[in-house]
Amino acid sequence: MVVLSKMTDVGANTLGPFDAIDCTCYEMCHTWNSSCMGTYVDTFHKAFVYAFKVYAPLYLLNALWKLQKKRTDKKRLARSTILQTLRSTLFLTMNGTWVLMVVCAYGKIFGKFHGVSGFIVGLISSFLSIIIERKSRRGLLAIYITNLALEILFKMSVSRGYVTPINRGEIYLFALSNVAYMSYFRGSNLPSYLQSVFEKVLGNDETKTYKIREEREHSSVAGNKFIFSLKKMCSYLLNNLNSIGSRPPSCCHGDSCVAYSARAAIKFFSIGYGIQVLMNYRRIFQALLRSNLSLLGKSFLDFRLAKFFCAYVTVFRAINCFLRRAVGQDNPEFFGGIAGFFSGFSALFYPSTTLSLYAVTKLLDIFCMKAVATKRLPFFPNFDVFMYSLSMGIVYHASIFEPHNIRPSYWSFMKGLSGYKFPLLFRKLLDRFGTEATKMYPNFVPDLDPKYVITPEVQQVLASHGKWP
Ligand SMILES: [Zn+2]
Ligand SMILES: [Zn+2]
Repeated sequence: MVVLSKMTDVGANTLGPFDAIDCTCYEMCHTWNSSCMGTYVDTFHKAFVYAFKVYAPLYLLNALWKLQKKRTDKKRLARSTILQTLRSTLFLTMNGTWVLMVVCAYGKIFGKFHGVSGFIVGLISSFLSIIIERKSRRGLLAIYITNLALEILFKMSVSRGYVTPINRGEIYLFALSNVAYMSYFRGSNLPSYLQSVFEKVLGNDETKTYKIREEREHSSVAGNKFIFSLKKMCSYLLNNLNSIGSRPPSCCHGDSCVAYSARAAIKFFSIGYGIQVLMNYRRIFQALLRSNLSLLGKSFLDFRLAKFFCAYVTVFRAINCFLRRAVGQDNPEFFGGIAGFFSGFSALFYPSTTLSLYAVTKLLDIFCMKAVATKRLPFFPNFDVFMYSLSMGIVYHASIFEPHNIRPSYWSFMKGLSGYKFPLLFRKLLDRFGTEATKMYPNFVPDLDPKYVITPEVQQVLASHGKWP
């Protein structure tokens, strides 16, 4: 928490992380309801409804996907889907409810709120809620929240002037992390689920797990029996491309190198475009409802993801082929790393800090797992619980003291989970911490019930805004 410890540098009268302001939990936190218990009940109810709406469609889609498999026990699947949905819903609901319970307990124990109170409250409440969730989901949640916490810490450092953001830094970050990913991928050293995802995207011709080429050629001929005319046209084009250039012995793919890269370009441009159109569905519906042709055109002519997918796979394949040709033999890990670096710059077409940070966080996770497997690092049981709680501590600190440094989509999610009560904190009381707590809601002063406002400092602030009788 280096960033937190430097909060004192902001100004001479600025409070630090271990300084405190006098106020009660009602005056500062649940300003919309003077009853602590009433707030818990209300928040539990609203968070449960919101969390159920988040998880029910996800588990339902997962169940529908599993139903496709022939030997699925339908009764068992239905039961596990309901139980898992309820368990995840309860985890998320309690995440929102525990935080209020712990904040009230903090206020009652200390009689004041310190600069680190948001972090401590977030850490404890997130620990109490993550242990409700299934063990198999904890790692994934920990990675997601660690990624978010890193982004928040970065924004906090930028807003305090400790760090100057590098122009297009997220692209360099993605390209550098891709060096390790592609080196591991070509050496078949990624965790098995990730290896199979990359094999589906980049093709298993590039990995060490080669199949016998004849087998592949046979299967591709068999698969060509039921193809659509559009696919036939593409195949015709690619077959002609196949006659352009050649394939060096060190390349394991069946086609010529040109066809091998061109195939990727066509396939992944189409897939990327399809996904982008699906992602733009809201804009498309809006455009159709309003008969807005220019918005409709913009939504359908959005090629960002198509270009990103296309460049990522094509550059990766082309550079690997080029290196194999130039050297006359394959060196999977080394060539994979070089190709990964250059293909990583495809993120220029789809720059995303979230994606780049996720790539880095996941890579750190892979490094740690490998280090534990080779006994270079000791094994910490429940490390995912620790990381989740620590990261959520940072997220909750930011949500109270500096919500402007949280990713907007996650802030919307937090607001929804709290029943849209998170913006109603009396953040003007936190101004003395110098974190620009009121930046997002500069004019908000709660309508507190004078009967329960007992702290003179809070009464003064209310009076200065004409809200004290
Ligand atoms: Zn309370
Ligand atoms: Zn090749």
